[in-house]
Amino acid sequence: MIHNSNNDSESIANYKKDTLDQTFRDAVATISKEGNRNYVNPQKPAGRLYNLRSYFSYFYLVLFFALPFIKVEGEPLFLFNVLERKFIFFGKIFWPQDFFIFAIGLLTFIVFIILFTVAFGRIFCGWACPQTIFMEMVFRKIEYFIDGDANQQKKLKAMSWNREKIVKRGAKIFAFFSLSFLIANFFLGYIIGIDELWVHIKEGIFVEFGTFSALVIFTLIFFFVYYWFREQACIIVCPYGRLQGVLLDRNSILVAYDYVRGEPRGKLSDATMDKGDCVNCHACVRVCPTGIDIRNGTQLECVNCTACIDACDEIMDHISKPKGLIRYASENGIALKEKMTYTWRLKLYTLVLSLLLIFLGVLLVTRADVAARIMRTPGQTYQLLADNRISNLYNIKLVNKTRKNIHLDLKLENMKGEIKQVGAVDVPKESYFQTSFFITLKNEQLKLRKTKVKIGIYENGKRMDVLSAIFLGPSI
Ligand code: SF4
Ligand code: SF4
Repeated sequence: MIHNSNNDSESIANYKKDTLDQTFRDAVATISKEGNRNYVNPQKPAGRLYNLRSYFSYFYLVLFFALPFIKVEGEPLFLFNVLERKFIFFGKIFWPQDFFIFAIGLLTFIVFIILFTVAFGRIFCGWACPQTIFMEMVFRKIEYFIDGDANQQKKLKAMSWNREKIVKRGAKIFAFFSLSFLIANFFLGYIIGIDELWVHIKEGIFVEFGTFSALVIFTLIFFFVYYWFREQACIIVCPYGRLQGVLLDRNSILVAYDYVRGEPRGKLSDATMDKGDCVNCHACVRVCPTGIDIRNGTQLECVNCTACIDACDEIMDHISKPKGLIRYASENGIALKEKMTYTWRLKLYTLVLSLLLIFLGVLLVTRADVAARIMRTPGQTYQLLADNRISNLYNIKLVNKTRKNIHLDLKLENMKGEIKQVGAVDVPKESYFQTSFFITLKNEQLKLRKTKVKIGIYENGKRMDVLSAIFLGPSI
């Protein structure tokens, strides 16, 4: 008989998993049986990972509040001006004409997120998502400071409206609202630019009613999310969380409970059973900001915040057992003791991502500073001139994507002839410009009724682009 240790571990793991209570699957932790909100009051987390996450959050917060002030040649480093359809990434301006680059960039980002999620689960949610950072590392900390830890919060909630409750609620609402207002200002700063926002604020509410309305709306949304809605944003609204079911597989690394080691769970004092390491203390449940029990397995609600890892490690320390009963691990890592493997799925996503990155790189490097479009002037055919020459009138539309005013010259590239501009082609920085020009050719140059002409666009003698147009002549 061939002994297969992998199969043995798998059947033991499956047996242990099957014996776990599965009723949690019939309900959402934050909704009661009657359909009301189960308000979660998580206990204040503490531990190595929580400290590390705090340091990360300081870095992100400094970045969030500092970035709008960082300028490149007078423009913000990042701008997402959907109103004027102007976007700046790392100081580079992108226009609606660059939509293709933008779409490829977005696609690359989505594939990156998929690849990352397949390999490392929702690590982004716990360590880098702005919602988690602001909720857990800013607003929750203020709440602990004002209301105290979970038990004190519950006591305060149950209390009748006495002086203490009024002062604490008032202080919390004031702090949450002020912070929401501050975040709303910076959020708007990312859309219209912090300088522009400052100008609008100085002009006052009656002149800039739109800006002030946007500020009020953003403030109210942030206040609603952080004061009341909270973890529901991750559980109900966030599409990324909902995608987990299709993205994760048995090799994805997640915050996971080692049921092979932990089950059957039981009190430390319970000597009557052959127990696992879980002492059923519920410390991991008490700290969970989404109110779930990680021992039930991977759940949609888990934002991988690692609070339960810290809580369980502390318990393991107390009972002198090895840490890591809850840890970053894959299902196969727990059930089969397998190390993380580079699966065919990961390889395929890596290939697609690499190709997209190369394509995006080429698009960015070859992106023209000036975009131009030439069209024959509508309603015009051709003009026969006195010396047997023929002229056509064209319109040219230009976009200057650079931060300097530029003067352009037009030249015929594929035949001898004359280009006569109606006015100088001076395109202001970061602007659209439109003008007209004539092309004049000798009649004998035309072999057909329609002749393809190529027009070069030059700046200081350097060719920026070559465009084609149709030159109309009399029928031969
Ligand atoms: S189960 Fe653990 S990692 Fe997941 S949300 Fe709750 S505390 Fe955070
Ligand atoms: S903290 Fe650890 S020991 Fe306590 S219930 Fe959770 S998994 Fe079990």
